[in-house]
Amino acid sequence: KGFSSLGLDGKTVVRALLRKGYTFPTPIQRRMIPVVLSGRDVVAMARTGSGKTAAFLCPLIQRVASGGTERVGVRALILSPTRELAVQTFGFLRDYARYVVVRAGLVVGGESLEAQFALLAGNPEVLVATPGRLRQLLQQVPGFGLHAVEVAVFDEADRLWEGSLLRETLAIVEALDARAAGGDGSAACQKVLVSATMPAALAEFSRAALREPQLVRL
Ligand code: AMP
Repeated sequence: KGFSSLGLDGKTVVRALLRKGYTFPTPIQRRMIPVVLSGRDVVAMARTGSGKTAAFLCPLIQRVASGGTERVGVRALILSPTRELAVQTFGFLRDYARYVVVRAGLVVGGESLEAQFALLAGNPEVLVATPGRLRQLLQQVPGFGLHAVEVAVFDEADRLWEGSLLRETLAIVEALDARAAGGDGSAACQKVLVSATMPAALAEFSRAALREPQLVRL
């Protein structure tokens, strides 16, 4: 069974996957893609090499590409613990979004702030970001927020939830949830946690902040 049987669109994302030479989904993709497409919160136990990146990117691209373009603001966010992972994920995003029109941006430390201000001025619909730089932009760019985000992916979440990144990550979660907390009637965004391990802090967060998450593990 191919990717289309999981609910992905044959003309766009499946076509891009086939172009990469991926004919069949990996086991984690088979389990994760339908759940991410459903809009539910997800906790996926998946490590590098499992095909986890395509498992969250393809449903996310399909959602953003099919949504109304009248909405202004970032609609999907992928948070990565390191610049290297963010750059790599952004490359895959470009590949898998080849046959759709999606404005995507990469927000990482080491780039000039001016370039990132310009990027945000272009109204990206999808951001791949590291926590430190994203938080800095949230503080410094007037009018930039995460209130329109519909789906947020926390990739390699065990690393986001440790050490110095934890503070930044939690500040971003707060910005994501500002919409729900504001009581304007709109629901909290879909959250997808992807992690190889489940340290106590992360398990506690998923219990407290996710809504009936679907657990995906092999
Ligand atoms: P990841 O686990 O996301 O780091 O992906 C591991 C590697 O598997 C990446 O180089 C992907 O390009 C590749 N990959 C992802 N999905 C598939 C697939 N369905 N078939 C073959 N290779 C894949």
